[in-house]
Formats: sequence, structure tokens, C-alpha cells
Amino acid sequence: MKERDVPKELQILRILRSRMNFNEEEESYYQYKEKGYEGEISFDKWAEPLKDMIFLNDVNLSVNNNHFQNDSLGISAGTLHIFEVKNLEGDYTIDKEGKWRSPKGNIVKNPLLQLEKAETLMNQLLKNMGWRVKVEPHLVFVNPEFHLYNVPSHLPIIYPAQLLRFREKMLQRCSKPTRFEIQIAERLLSILIEEIPYSSVPDYTYDGLRKGIVCPGCQKFYNSPIYTTFYCDGCDYKEETTTAVLRSIKEFKVLFPTRHLTTNQVFDWCGIFRDKRTIRTILKKNFKHKGRSAASHYY
Ligand SMILES: [Zn+2]
Repeated sequence: MKERDVPKELQILRILRSRMNFNEEEESYYQYKEKGYEGEISFDKWAEPLKDMIFLNDVNLSVNNNHFQNDSLGISAGTLHIFEVKNLEGDYTIDKEGKWRSPKGNIVKNPLLQLEKAETLMNQLLKNMGWRVKVEPHLVFVNPEFHLYNVPSHLPIIYPAQLLRFREKMLQRCSKPTRFEIQIAERLLSILIEEIPYSSVPDYTYDGLRKGIVCPGCQKFYNSPIYTTFYCDGCDYKEETTTAVLRSIKEFKVLFPTRHLTTNQVFDWCGIFRDKRTIRTILKKNFKHKGRSAASHYY
């Protein structure tokens, strides 16, 4: 019932990455986010055959003033499954104090604590709503190159090698949601909130960003179009000017949601056109116009 979009934070990082220089820390944060999203997509593929489950993906809720972020909620008759999806790679260990360590030996966030918090908040929310549904948490590792050492048993962990069997079990166990579960899903959908502000996105200003149109294939900037087509010399991608400009406007709105869309603005952002005619035509065709003279803009 709720499809997964590219998270806003990742959208911003992707756009910024081609228009400014990331330092090492920013680059590794970006890679981390990209990898997490990749893991969620492969989880979605895995979950496709589970037709008797209602899925709400990439869910943000506020429960008793706590923010609750979840990769995937699956609702079947009588049970609400919380899936926390991880795309970690390499040999991880749980040390004697119960801390999780990366292949390099660094302490990493314990995903079980995150899952536990999610479970608590979900239970609170269901109770607030007056619904009696069982909550079942699952920590799912999707990367076949992942291994975890020294794991106490009976933790709600699904390893990559167990994914198929786990799905078989789900298929047998889960029965079709009833009107009751559908109502729960609809109610949850109606109280979703925005992603929390992204504190780890690098600071950026309009003036500090490179202007131009970025190729969606290889993230290089286009050269001038030939007639009405851009030809990327980085990857041979070919794109109509209109499509490319509309895409760039979308990127602009993601980064600067409050700035007005004007011919001059889009002309400057796209950077590559010799005159404003093309921009004006595209704006007129695809947007509505509002206001007069200096304050006029498109929306
Ligand atoms: Zn390209």
C-alpha cells in the first residue's frame, strides 16, 4: 500500500554529489546511504511473492513524541511484522560486552537496539489506537557477503542464507489480511509524517553549487545540445532538451524547495543554454504562471 521512493536524503546527496566536491567523510556517508537503499530494493524483490501481506515501505511515524523510522512494515491477519533491513557486508562480530564490531574492529550501531525501539514504539502506537495485533520484529540481512560471529541464539535475525526458507515459512503462516488489518494499514498511512531532517547532509548554498545539466547515466555535465537533443560524451546517453530541463528543475526543487521558479532562475541553474527562449517555452508548456512583473514565477 505504500511503495518505496528514493529517500529524500539520498535524493539530495545524489544531486549534491555531482554539483559540489564531497570530502572523504561526506563521500562515505553517501556510499553508506546508497548501499542501504540498494539493500531495501533487494528486500522488496524478496518480499514480492508474499501476496497475503500488506506492505508499507519506508515509514515515518511519530509515537508519543518519538520519531519512528522503519524500512518495511508487513501486515498479515493478526500480525504486524517489522522488518529492519541491513545491507552490511563482511565479517561482523558481537564482542563480549555485546557490542557489534565491523570487519575492521570498529564499534557500530547495534541494529537490534534499533529494532527493539521500533517494536516498543509500534506496540505503544497500536495500544493508543486500541488495536490488538501481535508485533513481530525481524532483522533481515540481505547481503550474501555478510556474516556475524558469536551470535546468541533466539535473536530475531534472518541471515542471507535463510532468506528463501524464511519466506517459505511466511507464505505458509500468513493468511490474508481481513477488513480489520486493511483498516490498520489505511490508518497508519494517514498518520505518516515526513522524514526527519537530515543532519548529515553537507551544507550547501545556491552559489556554491556547479550549474549545468547532469547526465543521469554517468553524472557528468552535458555539453551544449545539438538542436533539441543532448548527447553525453561521458556515456553516450541521449536526452531531449525538454526532458533534461524538467529533470533539472526537479533537482532544483529538491534542493531549494522555497525558491521561485522563474525563467532567469532556470536559465542560470541549467547553465548550458545560450538564450532563454528554450527555457521560457518549456516553463510555459509545463507549469502554470503566477504573479506579475518582478514577482512573477511558475509553479
Ligand atoms: Zn553520461
